Amino acid sequence: MSADLLDLPSNAALNAVTHNYDVVVVGGGIVGLTFACGLRHTHLRVAVIETQTAATAANRQRAYAFSPVSAKILAGLGLWDEVEPQLTHFSRVKLSDADYDKAITFRPEDGNSDAVYYSAQHFVLMAALQSAVKAAPNIDYWCESKVMETCEGKASSRTELAISHGDTQMQFCTGLVVGADGARSVVRDQAEIETFGWKYWQSCITAVLEPEHSHENTAYEKFWPSGPFAILPLPENRCQIVWTAPHEEAKALLALPKEQFLAELTARYGDEMGGLKLLSEPMMFPVQLMQSKAYVRPGIALIGDAAHCCHPVGGQGLNMGIRDAIALAEVIENAAKQGEDLGSLAVLKRYERWRRTENWFTLSLTDFLNRSFSNRFLPLLLSRRAGIWVLDSVVPLKRLILRLMTGFFGRLPVSAKQNTL
Ligand SMILES: Cc1cc2nc3c(=O)[nH]c(=O)nc-3n(C[C@H](O)[C@H](O)[C@H](O)COP(=O)(O)OP(=O)(O)OC[C@H]3O[C@@H](n4cnc5c(N)ncnc54)[C@H](O)[C@@H]3O)c2cc1C
Repeated sequence: MSADLLDLPSNAALNAVTHNYDVVVVGGGIVGLTFACGLRHTHLRVAVIETQTAATAANRQRAYAFSPVSAKILAGLGLWDEVEPQLTHFSRVKLSDADYDKAITFRPEDGNSDAVYYSAQHFVLMAALQSAVKAAPNIDYWCESKVMETCEGKASSRTELAISHGDTQMQFCTGLVVGADGARSVVRDQAEIETFGWKYWQSCITAVLEPEHSHENTAYEKFWPSGPFAILPLPENRCQIVWTAPHEEAKALLALPKEQFLAELTARYGDEMGGLKLLSEPMMFPVQLMQSKAYVRPGIALIGDAAHCCHPVGGQGLNMGIRDAIALAEVIENAAKQGEDLGSLAVLKRYERWRRTENWFTLSLTDFLNRSFSNRFLPLLLSRRAGIWVLDSVVPLKRLILRLMTGFFGRLPVSAKQNTL
């Protein structure tokens, strides 16, 4: 049975039925669907449970800096041909220290790839993943259904989930619950998994705009003392900005009349692309660093923002989540082939060992970038600017930095390694 929203019987019938699955994925965002997609050619029965309608879940107004490793993962899932024409391929990425003229410029040849990075709009990734999941005979995609509670099942090593769908309640039973339910994960809370981290002093403003001149597929990360300011090129000569600033400043910026907001924006954006026209209402998001103290418990695994969150500098959050998803899918598929208990710690720890340390590294890198570039202490400022000269001129060093930022330093899933994108 595979449908956008399954036909649900009446209340009484629902209460009487327990739906049994090998794996239940809580959260049908990009990360949850990537994981489910990774299991679509197995014999495992998988349910994806998503609070929102499929259309609402797909319609988030956000674009992501999408790494070449994530591109290889999509290719491994057989979705690249559909997604690739709708992405913007970055021909250059420029990293600079505020308005200092010299920048580190990354080009595709520095990473032996057809693009330094890509920008991907949320709905493009979601559309491809949703249709793959809907077409998979072994996956049920339950939308407008919310996981309220998880508890140990009556049978050993099974977990039961209480799900609400409007006024009705359902019960699911499974050997493995995968928490892909975002930063405020119910699965993580119910499993009593603690987290480590902090909220940043900054908030993040996003908006879409149209510059007067072509963006030439160039992405920018400008490190202002108040926080990083990123420009992502989008199709049709639009750009998305991700602008971090201390909370009070961010709030005050959003409260400005449009003309003044644009003037402030232009001061950070620079004049390379001429005048700017706002195409969307600016939105504000909180920024935090969070790492779960464990990614797994017996019968439970966390992936994506449920497991970790990071500062948006460098566009790492979703890319880490996609790598988690495919790593867990690979571990589970291999364990299923060996007839192992999928929810056992012996199996799940393989995923945790693979991903948790790698994610620590990326979380630390984003924290380091944000803190060190926000600092105006003169000796630090001078060494940073000297560093920009060195990094831009010493090609092997520049390539190393690019590998760190794109996720190539870590262990790649087999499907991504086999892919020659
Ligand atoms: C402003 C901003 C810019 C960013 N830019 C980038 C970038 O350029 N590159 C990048 O890699 N990352 C970026 N990120 C990070 C990225 O957005 C997140 O890391 C990513 O969206 C996490 O995906 P996810 O699927 O894990 O979680 P989510 O996207 O939060 O999805 C969770 C899903 O679970 C569902 N759900 C929640 N609770 C329940 C429940 N109880 N039952 C059922 N379903 C539930 C939700 O409805 C949702 O669909 C950015 C973040 C911000 C805030």
